[in-house]
Amino acid sequence: MMKGKTALVTGASRGIGRAIALALAKEGMNLAVVYAGNAAAAQETVQSICALGVEAKAYACDVADYDAVGALCKQVVADLGPIYALVNNAGITRDRLAAQLRQEDFDAVINVNLKGAFHFIRHTYSGFLRQREGRILNITSVVGLSGNAGQANYAASKAGLIGLTKSVAKELAPRGITVNAIAPGFIDTDMTRQMPQAARDALTARIPLGRLGLAQDVADLAAFLCSERASYITGAVLPVDGGLAM
Ligand code: NAP
Repeated sequence: MMKGKTALVTGASRGIGRAIALALAKEGMNLAVVYAGNAAAAQETVQSICALGVEAKAYACDVADYDAVGALCKQVVADLGPIYALVNNAGITRDRLAAQLRQEDFDAVINVNLKGAFHFIRHTYSGFLRQREGRILNITSVVGLSGNAGQANYAASKAGLIGLTKSVAKELAPRGITVNAIAPGFIDTDMTRQMPQAARDALTARIPLGRLGLAQDVADLAAFLCSERASYITGAVLPVDGGLAM
C-alpha cells in the first residue's frame, strides 16, 4: 500500500515533477518536494499536496551536489519517515550542436540529469535494502533512446540513466525493490515552452497521436509504477510519447 508512505520527488516544483508529486499525494503518500531555487513554485506544490490531506515539505537542494543530497535524504527521513518511493525527475537542458557545445554545458547536464539520480540512489540505497520494499523511478527521455541533433549532452545523460536504471534494478530485485524508467516524448512544460513555436509545430507533426503530452500523462504512469499493482515490473523503460519513438 502506498497510503501513509513517503515519496521523494526531485524537480517537483514545476512541470512533470509537480504532476507526479500530486498524483502520488492523491494515492495517500506524503511528499518530499525537492527543487533547485524556485521556492515560490515549490511552496505552491506543497500547498496543493497538503490540500489533499497528506503531509508535504519542500527542500531546496542542488541534486548535482553529492553531499547536499546525502544531508537532504537524512533530513527527509527525520521529517517524514523512510522513503518508499524515490522519483529522480530533476533535469535541465543546455542545447547546442556538438561542435559548439562547451565543456561546462556538457558537465552541467550530466551532473544534474545523470549524477543527480545516482546521488539519490546512493544515499537511499541502504534504507531500501533495510526496508525490503520500495520503488525507484528515473525520468529519462525518448532522446535517450534515439539521440537528437543539438542535444548530445542531454541525450547522453538520458541514455546513461537507462543503464543506471537497469543496473540498479538487477541489484535490488532480490530485495523486492523495483527500479524503472519513464521515457517521455515532448511534454508541454517550461522546458519545451522555451522552444520557438515553429519548432514546436514541426515536432507536433511528427507525433503519431498529434499533440504534445501533458505532465499528467507521465504522472499517471508514475503513480501506477509506484503502486502495488506494478510489483512485477522492474528494469523497464516505458515511453509516454504519443507514439513518437516507434
Ligand atoms: P521543468 O519544467 O524545466 O522543471 C524542472 C524541474 O527540475 C524544476 O522543478 C527545477 O527546480 C528542477 N531542477 C532543475 N535543476 C535542478 C537541480 N540542479 N537540483 C534540483 N532540482 C533541479 O522540466 P520538465 O519538463 O518538467 O522535465 C522534468 C524531467 O522530465 C526532466 O528530467 C526532463 O529531462 C524530463 N523530460 C522532459 C520532457 C519534456 O518534454 N518536458 C521530455 C522528456 C523528458 P526549480 O523550479 O527550483 O528550478
